[in-house]
Amino acid sequence: MEYPVLSSPRNLEMSLSAAARVAGSPAEAFGAWALTWQQIEARMQGEAAAGFRAFVREGVPMSKELANQVAEVVMLWARNHGVTHYTHWFQPLTGIAAEKHDAFMSLKYGPDGTQAIDRLPGALLLQAEPDASSFPSGGLRATHTARGYTVWDPTTPMFIRRDGLTPTLAVPCAYVSYTGHALDHKTPLLRALTALSKEGTRFLNLLTGTDKVKQVDATLGTEQEYFLIDREHLAQRPDLVMAGRTLLGRVPERNQQLEDHYFGPIPARVLAFMGELEHELYSLGVPVKTRHCEVAPGQFELAPIFEEVGVAVDHNLLAMDVMRRVAERHGLACLLHEKPFAGINGSGKHNNWSMSTDAGENLLDPGDTAEERARFAAVLAAVLTAVHQHAALMRVTVASAGNDHRLGANEAPPPIISAYLGDAIDALADAIERGDGYDLRIGKAISITKQLQVKLDATDRNRTAPFAFTGNKFEFRAVGSSENCAWPMTVLNAAVADAFKTLSDRIEAGLKAGGDRAKVVADVVREAVKAARPVRFEGNGYTEEWVAEAKQRGLPVLQHTPAALSALRDTAGTQFLLAHGVFDQEELDARHEILAERYLKALDIEAGTLADIALTRVLPALEAQASNSGDALLAFKQSGAPSTARQEARLHAVADLAELLQVAAEALEASREELFAGHDVAKGMQHAVDVLVPALAALRTHCDAAEAVVADALWPMPKYRAMLFPVG
Ligand code: ADP
Ligand code: MG
Repeated sequence: MEYPVLSSPRNLEMSLSAAARVAGSPAEAFGAWALTWQQIEARMQGEAAAGFRAFVREGVPMSKELANQVAEVVMLWARNHGVTHYTHWFQPLTGIAAEKHDAFMSLKYGPDGTQAIDRLPGALLLQAEPDASSFPSGGLRATHTARGYTVWDPTTPMFIRRDGLTPTLAVPCAYVSYTGHALDHKTPLLRALTALSKEGTRFLNLLTGTDKVKQVDATLGTEQEYFLIDREHLAQRPDLVMAGRTLLGRVPERNQQLEDHYFGPIPARVLAFMGELEHELYSLGVPVKTRHCEVAPGQFELAPIFEEVGVAVDHNLLAMDVMRRVAERHGLACLLHEKPFAGINGSGKHNNWSMSTDAGENLLDPGDTAEERARFAAVLAAVLTAVHQHAALMRVTVASAGNDHRLGANEAPPPIISAYLGDAIDALADAIERGDGYDLRIGKAISITKQLQVKLDATDRNRTAPFAFTGNKFEFRAVGSSENCAWPMTVLNAAVADAFKTLSDRIEAGLKAGGDRAKVVADVVREAVKAARPVRFEGNGYTEEWVAEAKQRGLPVLQHTPAALSALRDTAGTQFLLAHGVFDQEELDARHEILAERYLKALDIEAGTLADIALTRVLPALEAQASNSGDALLAFKQSGAPSTARQEARLHAVADLAELLQVAAEALEASREELFAGHDVAKGMQHAVDVLVPALAALRTHCDAAEAVVADALWPMPKYRAMLFPVG
C-alpha cells in the first residue's frame, strides 16, 4: 500500500499554486476584510457618531433610527466587498464558532408589486434569535423552551469570510438564553473583563491616592501550536477523522530525539501554506507575526501580536478555523488536538497575558522609576494572590480529555498550578517579604567578544512552569491547543479582579484607621506576597518530588479532568466568580455538566473508534499475516529447511496477538456501556478513569504490537513514520 508524502511533486505544485494567490505586504493587506467600531464611527457624522460611540463605550442604548443608520453603514461596507449574506458569529460551548447565514435581500411590497432590495435593519444587526435548541446548555434550557439570543459585541471587529463563492459578513456576538444565562464563552469573559477593569482601576488609584486611572484592560497573545499532515493520510486514519488523534501507532525509531525540527528550515509546501494562511489572517485584521517549526516533526507554531483579550480570543478562534480551511486548499490537514501522536510532543497554546491602563502603561512592566517599581510590586502581589487562591479554578480551565495527555507528561507543565518568577523577580519577591524595598537588578549584560554584547532578560525561561513571568507579562502555558482561550482568560481575569478587591479592601481599612498611604500599601503588599509564597515555584515542575512537595504546600494536585472538574463543584472555591458577577450558580452547574459530558463523549468516541479499527482493520491484517506466514512455513518445510522453529514461533505470536486483540476490543466495547449509566456524570467520569482509559491503553498496546509483526505492505493505514516524516 502506498501513501503519498508531503513533498510529492504533485502536492508541492498544488500548494505553490495555492500560495500564488497571495500578493502584497502584510501591512498593506491588514484589515482589508475587517470593520472595527472606530471605522463605523468614522463613517458617521455629528450626533449619530457620538451616539454610536456612547453605545459602544458606555452601553447607552441606541434609538431605532440610530441603529438603522449604523446597520446601513455596515451593509454598504459589506456590499462594497461583494458580500450578499451576513451571520451572527458566536461561541457556544462546543469548541468552535457557530454561524447561521441570512441574505441581505428582503422583499418590499407596494402598489406596483413586489421589489427585492438589500437591507439590514438595525434590530437584526443588534440581536437575533437563532433556533438554539441543539447547542449544549447543560440544563439551562429545555428543548421545549429553547430560545437563545445572539447579541452584537461591537468591541471586537466584524469580518468577511470568503470561503467559496459567497463572501459572508460575520458579526461577533455574545449568546444568552431566554432567562439571560450565558450559553457561550463570550458572555462570562466580558463580565470578567468588566470586573477586572473595575477592581484594577480602584486598586491602582488607591496606591497613589488619585483618580488618574480610568480603565484597566487585559491583553493576550496566543502562541498556537499545530501539526500538519497530508490530507490523504488523514482520510486513511479513522482515528484522526473521528477523534482528532491517533489511537494506535508505533513511535518510529527516529522521532524528536535529534532535536532537529525545532526552528529548523520550514519545508516549501508548509511555507506555502503559512504564506497563504497569514495573508488571509492579515486581511481579516488578525496581526499574526511569528511562524516556526516546533519540537515534534510535523509540528509548527503561529503567534500574533497581542491584543485586548476580547479581540485576541475572537482572533484566535478565527485563526484556528482559517488554519483548517487553508490547509485543505494545500492538500494538508491541520491537527489542533493536544496530542495527535503518542510518544511525541503534543500541542499547547501559551496564553501570554498582561494588563494595561487607559494610558497604555503595561502593569507587568517592572518599570524604571521608584513609583513604577512600587506599582509593579503591588500588581505582582495581586497576581500571586490570585494564582494562589484560585489555582484549582485555573486548573479547571485547562482540563479536557485531550489536554490530559499533555499536562504532566514531561512535555508540558504538570497539572499543578504554580507561578514561576525567574531569578530577578523571585529575588524581588523575597525582598518584598523581608520589607527590603523594591530594588530590582535586571538588565545585566555578558560579552561574547568586544563587539558582541548580550543584554540579558529579567527572567530565564522555565518551560516546566504552568504560569511563568516572562519579562513584562505572564505566560499561562497549560492551555491546550484546541481550546477556546475565553475560558482560561475568564477565570484568570476574574481571579485577579478578586485579588485586587481583597488588597484594595485591606488598603482602605488601613487608611481608615489613619495609616500613612505608602506604609499601608507596603504592609498590604508584603503580607500578600508572604501569604502567596506556597504558589511560587522556581524548580523543575517535571519531577516526582514536585508533586509531593506541592501536596505538602497545600496546592491542588488534580491529575486528570474528572479530578479537576470536581473543583467546579466546590462552592467555596467558586464563590469569587459569583461575587464578581462572572457566573451565577446555575451557569456554573451547567458548565460542569457540559465539560463533564464533553469529556465522556470524547472518550466514548475514542473507545468505539479504536475497538472498530482493531476488529475491522488490525485483526484482518493479522489474519492476512497469519496466512502468509503459514504458507511460508509450509513452503519452508517442503523445501526441507533444517529448522523452522522461528517461523513457527512467529506464526504463534501472530495467533496470540489476534486472540488478545479480540479480547481487549470486546472489553473496551463493554466498558462504554457504563459511561452514561443513570445520567450520573460523576460516576461516569470515575468509570472512565478506572476502567475505560486503561482499556483503551490495553487495546492500543496490542494494536501497536501487531504493527511490529505485520508486513509493512499489509498494514491497513499510514504509519507515524509516513505521516510525520515527509521525505525531502
Ligand atoms: P516566545 O519567545 O515565548 O515563544 P513568542 O514571540 O512566540 O514568544 O510569543 C510571545 C507572545 O506574547 C506574542 O504573542 C506577543 O505579542 C505576546 N506579548 C508580548 N507582550 C505582551 C503583553 N504585554 N500582553 C500580552 N501578550 C504579550
Ligand atoms: Mg513561541
